[in-house]
Order: sequence, then structure tokens, then C-alpha cells
Amino acid sequence: MRIQPRIIPRSEHPISRSDISDNALKVLYRLSNAGYKAYLVGGGIRDLMLGHKPKDFDVVTDARPEQIRELFRNSRLIGRRFRLAHVRFGDEIIEVSTFRAAHHITDGERHIEDGRIIRDNVYGDIDDDVWRRDFTVNALFYNIDDFSIIDYVGAMADIEAQQLRMIGDAAARYREDPVRMLRAIRFAVKLGFTIHPDTEKPIYELNHLLNDIPPARLFEEFMKLFMGGQSLKIYHLLRRYDLFQHLFPLTQQMLDQDETRTDGMLCRAFLSTDERVREDKPVTPGFLIAALLWPSLAELVEEYKSNGLTDQDAIMLASDAVLSRQITSISFPRRFTQMARDIWLLQSRLKHRRGKRPMRLLSHPRFRAAYDFLLLRAEAGEDVQEMVDWWTEFSEKHQDRIGESHHGRARLRRSGRRHKPRRV
Ligand code: ATP
Ligand code: MG
Repeated sequence: MRIQPRIIPRSEHPISRSDISDNALKVLYRLSNAGYKAYLVGGGIRDLMLGHKPKDFDVVTDARPEQIRELFRNSRLIGRRFRLAHVRFGDEIIEVSTFRAAHHITDGERHIEDGRIIRDNVYGDIDDDVWRRDFTVNALFYNIDDFSIIDYVGAMADIEAQQLRMIGDAAARYREDPVRMLRAIRFAVKLGFTIHPDTEKPIYELNHLLNDIPPARLFEEFMKLFMGGQSLKIYHLLRRYDLFQHLFPLTQQMLDQDETRTDGMLCRAFLSTDERVREDKPVTPGFLIAALLWPSLAELVEEYKSNGLTDQDAIMLASDAVLSRQITSISFPRRFTQMARDIWLLQSRLKHRRGKRPMRLLSHPRFRAAYDFLLLRAEAGEDVQEMVDWWTEFSEKHQDRIGESHHGRARLRRSGRRHKPRRV
């Protein structure tokens, strides 16, 4: 049975073509002029409806990937699990995908294991495609032919009610792709929506499914969760739904052992990350990794030292242990774990304040990050205030000798990202 959508004509919705990027419009028109259907879909249209500035624009069409490839010289096909085209205009990438059919259809092009979608290249039409999307607010289509919005799933009503609601049976949809649990949290925070009770409830029972997600995909999701300027809220929700333990098992252990201290440290780290994003200062996950794993690291360092190891050796060994455990959950690229290592090692070197060593440390490329980390420890109640005061005075006196600025070179690109996440 086909469901009749609600069609909202141009005169009854606020989205105008001038809100949409020129490149996205170009793609829509070229597809349409070639005789294909072409819609704007997903986060771009959702954000416009809510008065946010969209991060990017996704297009969906009945043209097949090869046909899209032929139509756009500046395009390439990506993804095996989910084949789609990236059309590139300088820094901006418009993602163009072909309508997918709903999940009850099975044949060689769709591969499902234990309820999980492994491959999904069964093509369909718009009224097939809509059902495989995750939340109702993500399933609005903007039709370039008449500028209307097509709503199959009651998205407009959910926008009105400010609620995030899964399309279909939430538990089954989480089983198909457990990352949707993280997406629920991310969108709830980003949009300021509540999560509908039916969408929320299964998360408590299914959070453990995150353990089966490839660590590389969780890294992509980690970046979106924690580097978007709302990491503190995200952290609270991840803990509320018991998702956090599956992303940071070691940190969860420390929270269980000493909630107040560990939570204090984490909250301050998230708060300062969010502040930096708001002030448009560069942020990298290296600093957050250092903070998230610091309680576990500190405990291990103490143990190694009581076995006779020096400070530096203990930190190095403990870093290896803690990081190698962490990357089995989230595979942080080496440049980020290396930054955490540097920050940790420098915590020990900051203790030495005699002779030429402080001056040398000042010019270390990670000095600023290590100093900021020391501040964080002091704020979190560690007994390092005296060190903080000393280094504050010393570094102010010799400002010109300070190495590279705070979070280092690894400035994150906030726009025009080069690769889009894989997805189901
Ligand atoms: P943003 O780009 O702001 O993070 P978005 O909603 O555009 O949010 P994308 O990951 O860019 O998210 O995906 C685009 C659209 O594809 C989504 O709006 C949704 O309709 C669909 N989608 C993406 N990932 C999934 C998923 N894991 N399960 C179901 N649908 C998905
Ligand atoms: Mg998007």
C-alpha cells in the first residue's frame, strides 16, 4: 500500500531558493533538466526549516549512480555499502544518492546480518526511500520542480512539537544500525528537541550494540558528537542512556570508582572545548582524549611507580596501555593519540622548575596544551595550584619563548569536509 504524503506548497513553508547553496541548486536543476526527479533531503532541509544554517546539502534522485556520474564531470562514486556520488565544487561537496527501497525487500544487492544492514544498493522511488531514513525530521523532501516540501512521516508535526521521532519501529531501526542511537542524541542536542518516548526507550536496552560498530565509524561519530560545540550536553545524554560506557569503557570504570573527581575533570574539559568552538578557536580531539583518559592513566602510573618505575617510564607505559585499549572502541588516528601522549608526558616535566629546563619546556610545541591541561587538573581539584601559579608567572614573563599555540597545528576544517560518513 502506498501512503499519500502531505505536500506543503511553496506559499506555506519558509524555505526559499536563496537559502540553498548555489551548488546544490545547480545539481538539482541539472538533474531535473535531464529528466530525473531531484530533491533536497536530510539535514540541509531540516536545518532550514528550523532556522539553522545547514552544514551541507544532500540531494536524492531517481538517477542511478552511473547516470549521476555521467551528468556531472566533477563527480565521483564512493562507497560500497552505500554507493553514491560526490559532486565537488571547490571546497563544497554535494552528496547525491539514488532512492533506496524499503527494508522489507531482499535480494542480492542488500545484505543483512543479525538484523544489521551490511550493504544497501536496492534502488526504488521516493516513497521507498523515505522509510529507510532515520528520524522524521530527516525525511523531508524539497522538490525543485515546484518548490514544495513533501512530508510522508509527519515530520512537520514533529518539528512543531520539537520532538525527535524514529521512523518505524525504533528498536528494529537501532538493530539495523546502532549508530542511530548516537545520532538520536546528537540531533536532540543540536536541535534542542526531546526524544519521543518510543524512540528513547529501546536505547536503554540496546546500547550495548555499539560494541559491534567498527571503531573507525565510531571515530567519525565521535567527531560529530564532541567537536560540534555542545560536547557537555552530549556527554550528559550519553551517560543517561548508558551509551558512554561503550565509547569510553576505561573512563566509565573511573566514573564508577570516583564519580565526583572523574566527572569534574570531564565536565571542565567539555566546557572549555565548547567555549573554544563558540569563540571559533581551533580544537582538536587530542586534548579531549588526554582529559577523558587522564583518570585511568593516573591510576596506572601510580601502580607502575610503586613497582619502581620512574615518572617518565611509568607515563609512557601507561599511555601505551590506556590508548591501545581505547582504540579498540574508537579508532583515534595516531596524530590525536600522540597529542594526548605529549600532554601527559609534559605533565611530569612541568614539575621541574630549576635551571634551564623550564625555558626549554616553554619552547616545546605542546607547551600551551600541556599548560592548559595543568589548569584543567587544578580546576578539577588536583593538588597542582602551586605549579599553575609558578608556570603562569614564568610563561607570562617569557611570552616570546612560548612554542606553538594552544591546540597546535591540527586546525579542524569546519566546512567543506572532504569525506562524508559511511551510513546505512
Ligand atoms: P548533519 O549533516 O547535520 O549531521 P544529516 O541529517 O544531514 O545531519 P547525514 O549523515 O548527512 O545527516 O545524512 C543525511 C541524511 O541521510 C539524513 O538526514 C538521513 O535522512 C539519512 N541518514 C544518514 N545516516 C543515516 C542512518 N544511519 N540511518 C538512516 N538514515 C540515515
Ligand atoms: Mg548532512
